[in-house]
Amino acid sequence: MIGWLVGGLAAALAARAAFALGRRRGIHERRTDAERLRTELGSRLNELYSLQELSYVLAESLQLDRIAEQVTKYLTRFVNCDGAMIALTTDDGPPIRIAAAEGVLQNLAGKKIAESESGLIGDAMGREHIEVAHASDGDRRELIRGTNVTIAAVAPLRAHGVIVGAIATVRDTHDPFSAEDLRQISTVATHTAVVLENARFYGLIKTGKEQWEATFDALEESVAVVDERGRLVRGNRALARLVNQPIPKLAGAHLCDLLVGTPMALAQHFDAARAGTPDPPLTIRTKKNERTLRISAAGMPGSQPGWVVALIEDVTEREAMEAQLIQHEKMAAVGQLVSGVAHELNNPLASIAGLSEYLLHRESVSDQHREHMTLIHEQAERAGQIVRNLLTFARTGPVEITSVDLNDIVRRTAALMEYELRLREVSLNVDLAPDLPTVRGDRHQLQQVMVNVLTNAVHAVAENPTDRPRSVEVITVASNGHVDLVIADSGPGIDDDLLPKIFTPFFTTKGPGEGTGLGLSISYRIVEGHGGSLTALNRKRGGSEFRIKLPAASASEYRPAAVAAENPGGTLKAAPCEILLVDDDPAVLKALAALFASDGHNVREAECPAQALVLLNKRSFDLIVAEPQASTGNGVSF
Ligand code: ADP
Repeated sequence: MIGWLVGGLAAALAARAAFALGRRRGIHERRTDAERLRTELGSRLNELYSLQELSYVLAESLQLDRIAEQVTKYLTRFVNCDGAMIALTTDDGPPIRIAAAEGVLQNLAGKKIAESESGLIGDAMGREHIEVAHASDGDRRELIRGTNVTIAAVAPLRAHGVIVGAIATVRDTHDPFSAEDLRQISTVATHTAVVLENARFYGLIKTGKEQWEATFDALEESVAVVDERGRLVRGNRALARLVNQPIPKLAGAHLCDLLVGTPMALAQHFDAARAGTPDPPLTIRTKKNERTLRISAAGMPGSQPGWVVALIEDVTEREAMEAQLIQHEKMAAVGQLVSGVAHELNNPLASIAGLSEYLLHRESVSDQHREHMTLIHEQAERAGQIVRNLLTFARTGPVEITSVDLNDIVRRTAALMEYELRLREVSLNVDLAPDLPTVRGDRHQLQQVMVNVLTNAVHAVAENPTDRPRSVEVITVASNGHVDLVIADSGPGIDDDLLPKIFTPFFTTKGPGEGTGLGLSISYRIVEGHGGSLTALNRKRGGSEFRIKLPAASASEYRPAAVAAENPGGTLKAAPCEILLVDDDPAVLKALAALFASDGHNVREAECPAQALVLLNKRSFDLIVAEPQASTGNGVSF
């Protein structure tokens, strides 16, 4: 382009030289042709060199203002003027800006001009041809508002059919610009316009590229452009982070190698994209950093043949969360199912346990039958315990929040398990902190936790070889606003890889029929629900240690959400009492009635609250036993 500029100018100058030489031959007859030629040639050569110099300078820069500066400098030096300036159109604000100004116009540099103030500049741009001010009559013309000139030539800058500004040259004298001067100004304007426009395009492309690169790098997802052999042409910052390499190292590396190591599936995925039939996104697992990636690829028509752009999403966390969600939903469904089944089983089991207990107290029962009856009762109790565990797991049943003394819970549980401990020859060492602060919670739930953890400990030590002690320690301690209940055993401990799983529902290492895998998960939930924590570890000297940490009632602001009424207490007066039983299950009514009746009480039964109301209207009762939440349907509930 610059060569073209120089070539064009050189031809113009040569033509001008020939023209001038011919004309002057007649005018200056006293001079010899050789002298004239020498002088003219010398001056044209100077112009040529100056134009060449300008072209070199322009070639070095693609910055609009720098080009404008160089052109105005050139004009003041070589067009024999006292000042020059370049005005350019702008995209925002006032439509014209003076990009550069030299000589007497120097103080106009940087000025912004409204269209109405644009004077000769505006005229040249509007009319699209060179405007000349002669002012031979002494008038001064307005170059722009506030700047009057005597002699001026303003040439529009026109590139690709669009006016992008104007070049102005002024003289302070009354010596007008010659035709040659005007042609030279015009030539410079034509070529400057092209150079300026190219610079403007370059600027646009550069800004566009910078914006594109910034966007490319700002993406959270990795983006890679690979060539026909799968080598990276470009990768963004996210990709560099993913493969743990600096961006400059990405170019040329094989994307498949960087990501997976086994390139087959990915290479095929890219081939399909190249062929214009892209496959659905590919999910792969990286070998190096064990991430799950989802890769979509598309061909790049219009770029190099075989190039593919790939979007690589790291879906490791998303997948884990989805799996967790599915598991959570599954557990919720299991919980609901379990709660429904357990609820259905509860009443028949209560009837079996109740009636068998009632029959056991009958003297008429033979010894052999008594033995069978005891077994029925024990098994019904055992099944009932399982059902109650399941109901707790499914978070049903009323919660009763009171001040609970953990020392008391330990004592009661130890008493409850005395038989079990004796049977399995396990020694229990209890060390209870005096003046232990109470905790707020449900006594039965907390006791259930204690029973679950202690039962596990007893089972664990019961498996010990004969030369190893079978002992369990239970300690309570108050620490920093908390109360700790520690249950440690001398059993085999828990395998390190199993430790993280033991609180998972249904996880058990016990044989079929021996363990349900629910004890610890239920306990974990209960303790968590009380604002505490349940943790397990293996002790250095062997065996495992479970720690139940609960906030002390006095030190804690924690108040369990479902605070139920405190048990009002009271005892049933001596028989015979008038008792009203309300339950929709006839079997339960039968069992309860039999038990109360065996103690000498008078029992009336109602299968629904409405029936109970009828009875209550007729007479009074000392005690009403009803299912929680039983309702008459007309607002009366028990
Ligand atoms: P279950 O006792 O029915 O198996 P749990 O949830 O109570 O269910 O316990 C889960 C598992 O945790 C047990 O099967 C056992 O592997 C392990 N475990 C619990 N307590 C102990 C302990 N004190 N010593 C060794 N392993 C234990």
